[in-house]
Amino acid sequence: MPKPVVDLDLCEGCGTCEEMCPEVFKVGDDGKVQIIGPDKCNTCNCQEAADTCPVQAITIE
Ligand code: SF4
Repeated sequence: MPKPVVDLDLCEGCGTCEEMCPEVFKVGDDGKVQIIGPDKCNTCNCQEAADTCPVQAITIE
C-alpha cells in the first residue's frame, strides 16, 4: 500500500496537502506537517498532494 513520506526539512507548513487530504496530513503547531493517517492514502489523492506541494516535500513510497 502506498504511504506518504514528508521531508520535514523542506516542508513549509503551507497546508495545501492538508486541504487535499485532511485524513492523511495535518499541519502541527510547529509549522510542519504531520502524517496522521499513513494508511488512508487510497481514500484520497495523496499523489496529487505530492505533485502540488510547492517544495516537493512529499513522496509516496
Ligand atoms: S504541501 Fe508541502 S510544504 Fe505544504 S504543508 Fe504539505 S508537505 Fe508541507
